[in-house]
Amino acid sequence: MKLEVGAVTVSVVDEHSEIRRLAAQVAEEVYAPMAEELDVTRTPISLEERRRLGELGFLGITHPERFGGAGAPLSQALAVIEEFAKVCRPAAFQIFESNTGPAQVINHLGTEEQRERLLPDIITGDRTMAVAISEPDAGSAATDARTTARPVGDGYVVNGAKRWISNGGEADHYLVYARLSDAPGAKGIGALVVDKTMPGVSFGVPERLMGFRGIPSADVIFDDVLVPKENVVVPAGEFSSLFGAFSIERMGNATMSLAIGQAALDKTLAYVQQREQFGKHLVEFQSIQMMVADMVLQVEAARLLVERAANSGKDGIPDPLQVSLAKCTANEMAKKVTDLAIQVHGGNGYTEEYGLERLHRDSHGWAIAGGTPSMQRIRIVSEVLGRRFDQRR
Ligand SMILES: Cc1cc2nc3c(=O)[nH]c(=O)nc-3n(C[C@H](O)[C@H](O)[C@H](O)COP(=O)(O)OP(=O)(O)OC[C@H]3O[C@@H](n4cnc5c(N)ncnc54)[C@H](O)[C@@H]3O)c2cc1C
Repeated sequence: MKLEVGAVTVSVVDEHSEIRRLAAQVAEEVYAPMAEELDVTRTPISLEERRRLGELGFLGITHPERFGGAGAPLSQALAVIEEFAKVCRPAAFQIFESNTGPAQVINHLGTEEQRERLLPDIITGDRTMAVAISEPDAGSAATDARTTARPVGDGYVVNGAKRWISNGGEADHYLVYARLSDAPGAKGIGALVVDKTMPGVSFGVPERLMGFRGIPSADVIFDDVLVPKENVVVPAGEFSSLFGAFSIERMGNATMSLAIGQAALDKTLAYVQQREQFGKHLVEFQSIQMMVADMVLQVEAARLLVERAANSGKDGIPDPLQVSLAKCTANEMAKKVTDLAIQVHGGNGYTEEYGLERLHRDSHGWAIAGGTPSMQRIRIVSEVLGRRFDQRR
């Protein structure tokens, strides 16, 4: 393990140190200077900046070469996401979305025609795809979703409303989880792609979230939206494969949290060696050392679990137990470590200038998105014991 203040974090087992260094350099030089402004104005990065990420190859790391991607392993994308997320989450979000989000579901579960049609523009940054699972009355209980996609002629008619959709209103395509059959619960749910421009698609007012401020969030409403049958990615009855692919998104999420914790730790390591009180540096006080040690312990524990999960599983789908262990640990670590960082920074930690309150606000969002720590815990016990726990009975 190597911790250098202000330096790129490279763990001893990191096989992706070169791309990590490149990502850190681009993130620091190009995107870090705009991060605070994007947060204050609640604005996503521009199309131009997204295309720049595409030109640099960051949006296609895990996608096949035949569509313009690099065909690299998930861990490489996670290294890049981490370096961007340390300094500019709105930019990191775009890399997260294309490499670990719904575009990966298209890559793994879609038809070749869908891959050819959708992936090249996502990899260049010309277009983006968001995932629409949650509904006003179906959050943790995602299988309570009521949005329907009824077969009509050569396609489906979609009706319903989705809530908390990151990039809602901004994304060009939506991977919508919907009831494609009348079968109850998970059995009736599949997924299809709905385009922003299809008649009947509209958006709620932008949410005013505690964090995630350079990442738009809105309801997505479907009112008799006619969707061609070619857009069905997963038919009803294959919900488990959808949630298998969602493990990839959870790894992106865990990495966002890891980056937040690491960034808070890096800032704190610098601060305690520079700030003086009672005539000595803060780091000389034993109680400060205990807090810093706790931060290091938690960040490193999360890092090991994230790395282990990224290399687990088969056919590019990480193992669900490892993923839930990593996401739960990283999400909770980021909330605690950013809180400690604010405490160690005193009044400065409470200002916007130091960026710590922004890290803390964002840490809460990543912990809710993609399934809360409580839901990860239920999954952990379920996987460890090899049995399901019905939450409804
Ligand atoms: C920043 C952000 C980004 C998001 N992005 C997206 C997105 O892009 N697409 C999308 O589809 N959704 C998105 N979501 C929605 C997110 O997936 C849900 O908010 C999340 O799954 C929790 O659902 P809920 O908010 O309805 O909370 P609820 O399900 O109502 O849960 C409330 C509380 O009860 C707990 N709880 C619920 N059920 C149980 C149980 N059985 N046992 C124990 N505890 C339980 C939860 O852990 C939580 O603490 C996003 C949310 C946020 C905050």
